[in-house]
Parts: sequence; structure tokens; C-alpha cells
Amino acid sequence: MAHKITFIPGDGIGPEVADAAKRCIDATGVQIEWEQKEAGIDIMKIVGTPLPDDTLESIKKNKIAIKGPITTPVGSGFRSVNVEIRKRLNLYACLRPCKSYEGVRSRYNDIDLVIVRENTEDLYAGIEFEQGLDKTTSIINSIKDASGANIREDSAISIKPISVTASEQIVRFAFDYAIKNKRKKITAVHKANIMKYTDGLFLKTALRVAEEFKDSGIEFEERIVDNMCMQLVQRPEIYDVLVLPNLYGDILSDLCAGLVGGLGLAPGANIGDDIAVFEATHGSAPKYKGLNKVNPTAMILSGVLMLRYIKEYDAADSLEKAVASVIEEGKDVTYDLKLDRTDPSAVGTKEMADAIIKKL
Ligand code: NAD
Repeated sequence: MAHKITFIPGDGIGPEVADAAKRCIDATGVQIEWEQKEAGIDIMKIVGTPLPDDTLESIKKNKIAIKGPITTPVGSGFRSVNVEIRKRLNLYACLRPCKSYEGVRSRYNDIDLVIVRENTEDLYAGIEFEQGLDKTTSIINSIKDASGANIREDSAISIKPISVTASEQIVRFAFDYAIKNKRKKITAVHKANIMKYTDGLFLKTALRVAEEFKDSGIEFEERIVDNMCMQLVQRPEIYDVLVLPNLYGDILSDLCAGLVGGLGLAPGANIGDDIAVFEATHGSAPKYKGLNKVNPTAMILSGVLMLRYIKEYDAADSLEKAVASVIEEGKDVTYDLKLDRTDPSAVGTKEMADAIIKKL
């Protein structure tokens, strides 16, 4: 029976990379009935919302979706559709493997890291109060009453909620993932020395959950986030699975993508108890929109993660092998994978996908 999967092209470079991924997935021979739904700034211009109800309903019904990136304009009132989808569907775990492929122009060639990022709370949850509003002043005054802390009157406020529930859920997810995927070590990343109550709670919860898994054979350790950044640049090979609260997870995902050759190579998945949405780590790169220029690999590898999630292991392995082979040959690859980024032999998004399909 065909798998029914929601397909969301997104905006910016989204439609190009999403289409490349869809063609590669179809070429594996796995039977998929795609249900295309829209989200992002293009559909907003037509229907007045960037996340139409029927898009969300389709994901809820099919339980699996693959989506291209969606623009979140900086500083406008427009909230992130990506964050909204994760919150509304309780996709609490963001999984982002970062792996070296032979032939990629990068400073490292032996990276095999997996980021497990909490996806629903923290400063990233978007609970913010604008500077100058009465309610913001009232919050500033309440904080002063409760803590004695002086916050400047002309401040804006962002709230950082960290709960036992979400911390426990994400650390358990990291252990389950590590066990199922035969990984060796989990590193919990935090700033509990400064944020004693929020990151402190994340760390305390992580230590408690790790204690439950002490006989699992998975080593557990913790690192402060600033030290972790330095360690990842100096000795990335000694790390394995990293589990982090939302904002550090966002930032370190891009750092790790940089270690393996850039955002064009970093896939991702947002996973809840029974729904999963697969998407690249990168954004909608609006300046490249419609140019058939960017690398489709991150989106195609997100498709590989999706195939594994739906238990189509052989198809997932063949697609990953085909991607690796095209990258290793270095001929039919996009500009970012060429030694010289201005190399005229670089191919477009569509042509790189065609080369991958030929290898299947
Ligand atoms: P971005 O990831 O879109 O692009 C940053 C740079 O990375 C690009 O200019 C390009 O040089 C490179 N890059 C990205 N994808 C690439 C690819 N496939 N191949 C080759 N190079 C690639 O980040 P940004 O410019 O900060 O964000 C643009 C928009 O995307 C923003 O509105 C942001 O909010 C949104 N965004 C969406 C998602 C998502 O949909 N999940 C994730 C991140 C950012």
C-alpha cells in the first residue's frame, strides 16, 4: 500500500529543493501518494495566512510531511510558520544529523554528529513583549517586585520557559535514538552556571534521566554551551549525540552544518509521538529563489531520514549511497560543492537531483 505523505514546497528556494527531493524519493521506487499543501509567504498573499488550516489538517491526518523552508521576515509581526507547525503538532524533538561525505570541501572529513534539539520551548518559543507597550511595563514592574531586579523601562522582554516535561521528553528521545542507532555517547549542552533555574532544570532533569539509562551502554556527559562551541571546532570527532534546549540547538545545528561543508548538506526532522515533519536545516535563502542554483542535498537527505522513519530502509540506504556517490565524483554538483565556488562546471539544483536519480 502506498504511503500517504503531505508535501509542502514552502517559499524562496523551497519549491526547487523540495521538488528535487520528491523526485529522488519517487525514484527509489517506494510507493508514495503525495498530498501537496501550501505554507509560507506566497500562499499568504493569496489566502491571508501563511499556514492555512487545511495544511495543518493534512499533516495531522497523514502523520508524515516533508516541507521546504519557509521565510520568517526579521523584525516584522509575522511569526515563524516553522515554529508554529512544531508547536501546534507537538513535534518536540528536532533531529539533525551532521555527517562528513567523501569529496566535500570542508576543514574536517571525519564528522558524525547528531543534534537532538528540544523544539517547543525556551527563548525560541516566541513569547515576547514589545518595547513601549503597557503590558511590557507591567511585566517589568512585576519582575522588579518579585526579584528586585531593575530592568530598564525602555526594554523589550522575551521569556525563556524550560520545563521538566519537555526536558525529560527530549533527553529520553536522545537516549532512545542513541540506543536504536547504536551510538556511543550523549552530551547534554547548557548554560546552567549562569541560568541556574532554567538551564539548571534542564541539566538536573538530564542527569536524572541519564541515571535511568546508566546500564544502556551509552556514555553520558555535560558541557557548558560556550565551551561546547570551542570543543566542536577543535575536536568535533570526540562528540557523538548532542542534546540541547531549543536556542542552543538552533545555533549549534548551523555550527555543525558548517563542520560538514555547509547548510546545503544538513538534513533534519521534527518528530513528535506520532507525527513527523522532515525539512532541511537551512532556510529559504530568498536571494537564490528561482535561480536553480542551490544544493538540494540537505532536502534529499531529509527525505532519506523520512524513508527510514517509514521503515523503507533499503530505499533510504540506496538514496543516501546515490547522494554520496554524486558528491564524491564532484562533477554534477552545485556551486557550493565545487573547490572554487565560481567554477562554471557547477550544475543546478535540478541537474544535481537528476545525477542522483541516475545512480539509483
Ligand atoms: P538560509 O539558510 O536561508 O541561508 C543562509 C545562506 O546559506 C544562504 O545565503 C546560502 O549562502 C546558504 N545556503 C542555504 N541553503 C543552501 C543550499 N541549499 N545550498 C547552498 N547554499 C545554501 O538562512 P537565512 O538567510 O538566515 O534565512 C532566510 C529565511 O529562511 C529567513 O526568513 C529565516 O527565518 C528562514 N528560515 C527558515 C527555516 C525553515 O524553514 N525551517 C530555517 C532557517 C531559516
